[in-house]
Amino acid sequence: MSATRKRQLHDGRTIWRARRMPALQRSRLGVSSGKTDVLIIGAGISGAMIAEALSDAGLDVTIIDRREPLHGSTCASTALIQYEIDTPLTKLSRRIGKHSAQRIWLRSKLALDALRERTRVIGAHEECSRHDTLYLDGDVLSQDGLLKEALARREIGLECTLLAPRALTERFGISGRSALMSYDNIGADPVRLAASFLRAALDRGARLHANCEAEHVEPLAHAVRVELKSGESLLASHVIFASGYEMPKGVPRKGHKIISTWAMATRPQPRNIWPEGCFIWEAADLYLYLRPGPDGRIICGGEDEEFGDEEKRNALTPEKIATIERKLAELFPHVDPRADYAWTANFGASQTGSPSIGPAPRMPHCYAVLGYGGNGITFSMLAGQMLRNMICGHGDADAGLFSFSRKF
Ligand SMILES: Cc1cc2nc3c(=O)[nH]c(=O)nc-3n(C[C@H](O)[C@H](O)[C@H](O)COP(=O)(O)OP(=O)(O)OC[C@H]3O[C@@H](n4cnc5c(N)ncnc54)[C@H](O)[C@@H]3O)c2cc1C
Repeated sequence: MSATRKRQLHDGRTIWRARRMPALQRSRLGVSSGKTDVLIIGAGISGAMIAEALSDAGLDVTIIDRREPLHGSTCASTALIQYEIDTPLTKLSRRIGKHSAQRIWLRSKLALDALRERTRVIGAHEECSRHDTLYLDGDVLSQDGLLKEALARREIGLECTLLAPRALTERFGISGRSALMSYDNIGADPVRLAASFLRAALDRGARLHANCEAEHVEPLAHAVRVELKSGESLLASHVIFASGYEMPKGVPRKGHKIISTWAMATRPQPRNIWPEGCFIWEAADLYLYLRPGPDGRIICGGEDEEFGDEEKRNALTPEKIATIERKLAELFPHVDPRADYAWTANFGASQTGSPSIGPAPRMPHCYAVLGYGGNGITFSMLAGQMLRNMICGHGDADAGLFSFSRKF
């Protein structure tokens, strides 16, 4: 029995795994490995950013992963790292109240800025590129809806510009649509970015154990004992589940669920299709999203299905990739839309587009991160910031908004 649900997280050829995996120093478990301040379960991008934040705060950190590090869903990510969450501010305000919605959006923007800043602090700024974003109208927000969204964002100081169809065609060659343009989001190879954060933590003395599975997590009076599949056990003052879409058992789902998604990367395009290198996504229920990738390729994804079953998901890949190719060709008739890399993966969907981060109910000294929704990487940074605040005892002003006991 594992402490988390095990899944085949992805299938197919992801573009990032075709590149050389970054080398990371591993530790061996001793017969008695002593006690650590914080044990992080999961060496993906969430575990990496949390480990970096906590080791920077002077804590002794141990990271374990049942796989090789960064072989979970991090290497299937398309990594459009944005602050704009899946649920528009106008719609989130109606659902959970204006003040809470504004705080969630602002915290997401602050986490994006923090990601850029921490990346610079650890000397990994070359891993990030800067991209503005075009949010095209669709069945979730019409042109009028985009205008209201622009006003709601501006009310809290988020810069954006509404582009009418003519301006969008002239500037980007996209016809018959309008778009909201926002600024300064981040593109990255998620594997390399996460490796940089892990390396920064390891350089400060953190330990990384690969192929090391947490089977049972037992909170004690002043610590937590984690029994491993190998038969060994670890003792930690705090345990953090950063296990991604392999949900920790016993932690409430809070409106999160595991679904399926598909993504692809084209061959290198003969010419730059976006003069301004923008990310593009749609205010639509089944949205298509795209970004410039390495070597002039287009990375493109979407076509989500509401189920998580891996066998059913894998069987649909040829059909789903053909649909993404067709939609890409409709948007940009002059590009070569054929997939050179194609993959499918599980994905964590969130009812509000926001994550759950904080103490795990009824598990003293344990925390969980369900960074679900399209902004998983931004939420990894948010988790690093919030858990540092909580574990160091300073508290976090927005703990209630992301907690497992919140009302929405
Ligand atoms: C196709 C796709 C596209 C995406 N696009 C974007 C995007 O454009 N922008 C964005 O911000 N986010 C995006 N995301 C989401 C983002 O990549 C995720 O938030 C991220 O991959 C999840 O990271 P993680 O570190 O939480 O999980 P993972 O990378 O899966 O890491 C969790 C690790 O925990 C380990 N683990 C689980 N259980 C145990 C256990 N019991 N013992 C030991 N180890 C365990 C697993 O082996 C795994 O390696 C995308 C995700 C996918 C799949």
